[in-house]
Amino acid sequence: MKPSMIFHLLFLSLNFSSLFLSSNARGGFNHSNHSGYVYNNYGGSVRQLYAENNFQMSVEEHFQKLEKLAQGYMSNSDLEKAIKAFNGRCNNISRIYSIGKSVLGVPLWVMEISDRPGEKEAEPAFKFIGNVHGDEPVGRELLLFLANWICDNYMKDPLATLIVDNVHLHILPSMNPDGYSLRKRGNAHNIDLNRDFPDQFFPMNDDLDSRQPETKAIMNWLEEIHFTASASLHGGALVANYPWDGTEDRKKNYYPCPDDEAFRFLASVYSKSHYNMSLSKEFPEGITNGAFWYPIYGGMQDWNYIHHGCFELTLEVSDNKWPHASELLTLWEYNKMSMLNLVASLVKTGIHGRVFSSDRGRPLPASISIRGINYTIAASKTYADYHRLLAPSEKYEVIATMPGYRSKSTCIVLGEAATTIDFVLDPETTHLGSQLLVDSDCYFESKTSLKVLELLPRVPFRTFNNLGFNFDISLLLNEQEGNIKFSIPKTEHRAKTARCCMRCGTQIEMKTSWTQVNPGRRFLSVNTVCKIEVVVSLPGVAHLYVQDLWR
Ligand SMILES: [Zn+2]
Repeated sequence: MKPSMIFHLLFLSLNFSSLFLSSNARGGFNHSNHSGYVYNNYGGSVRQLYAENNFQMSVEEHFQKLEKLAQGYMSNSDLEKAIKAFNGRCNNISRIYSIGKSVLGVPLWVMEISDRPGEKEAEPAFKFIGNVHGDEPVGRELLLFLANWICDNYMKDPLATLIVDNVHLHILPSMNPDGYSLRKRGNAHNIDLNRDFPDQFFPMNDDLDSRQPETKAIMNWLEEIHFTASASLHGGALVANYPWDGTEDRKKNYYPCPDDEAFRFLASVYSKSHYNMSLSKEFPEGITNGAFWYPIYGGMQDWNYIHHGCFELTLEVSDNKWPHASELLTLWEYNKMSMLNLVASLVKTGIHGRVFSSDRGRPLPASISIRGINYTIAASKTYADYHRLLAPSEKYEVIATMPGYRSKSTCIVLGEAATTIDFVLDPETTHLGSQLLVDSDCYFESKTSLKVLELLPRVPFRTFNNLGFNFDISLLLNEQEGNIKFSIPKTEHRAKTARCCMRCGTQIEMKTSWTQVNPGRRFLSVNTVCKIEVVVSLPGVAHLYVQDLWR
């Protein structure tokens, strides 16, 4: 049979079976609701599933049906065996590791694929996460297909070779093995893991103790590895979803994040490489802003972008959550080029480079920002390499900043292909104290104030040049966006530069232009005219400044 005929037949069967169990993967608003039940919040899809069940069948019948549908899918132990078998077969270009355990104690296995797995290199890292929702099992199957395909085609296929040689690809096939074995959306505690992350607008998940082990595992993972981009795989729709997922007023609206253009580009890489995603009637070009589709809160996608500089997409890879297992190979064919091209876009597009100091040539973990885009990424600590995803065919001014060094910027027109820009920064010639003073006349008159609420010294640590301290700081920004005046006292003591910026322990409570940050996380979205350095004095110990805020 011609491939196109196979696709056609399967497409029909996918549509048919979706009549039974289609429920929207991110949850909430549902476009194919047959039960007449009305949902108006983000917890809706679970209810919808049961509402449909009640409408059509008993819970018992429903479970039996799911068991039948799960036939041919890997069980959790099958999955573990498959991951280990993959690693056994491809140990020259892979390693496996667990990032933690589920509530019921199932290891969360990750496969890393690279020509130097487990080593730090000046390369971007990408992660795929499948099975966030237990009842969306297609992703975990696709990810095993992906890993094995790359393994089989390394040094044979240019795309496989490009990925292995230039990217560290980490694949977590199942984030929610318990939900999978229980055939339900949430984990064993019945928590929707894609609502369990800290949220930028609402404090609902800010309590560390109540966070689920699967969520904690992901959050700790991102402390260990810096991912440039990532995607989680869901089922129940066919679309590539990008930030923001939520809106501040809870209304369904297009809510662009600072990198809207770059995200639209990335999402399109996926949809356009897909067999039929971009042909969607519901979603123009097969992509959607999350909040425009329906807002969710506590999702993993926005958290990745806000707190770890990781550009994450939420991919809905199949209208039917439980297609017959015989359709999995076809679904892999549908998604294969999308998955490969998405990972490859990390090296085929965007701006990449390294940052060095001019005096001793040492790598600087500088901040990289783009004029006009309110978002900063960090160069890596080890090699000072950075990887900035951007929409092609635009002019950009790229700025590198590092405490103690003079910032540099350069303008480029980014084409379709990736561009390399290395920066060599000159040290500030003034002594540290005067550097601090300069910043205080950085035109922040006015109504608003930034107040240091609390300073709790932690153990000293060594920074690039000086002894510094880790702190837990609470800062408060009052009133509206606009000019800022810091109500932080200056001091006559000789300042020590602690590179303790937002990253290592800052809590900020914000209004308007500030985005809420959880302890130990950084994300600043502030309208300022230039670089700001917040000078904080800690009586008798040291001074600390918090810096790198850009318009
Ligand atoms: Zn989902």
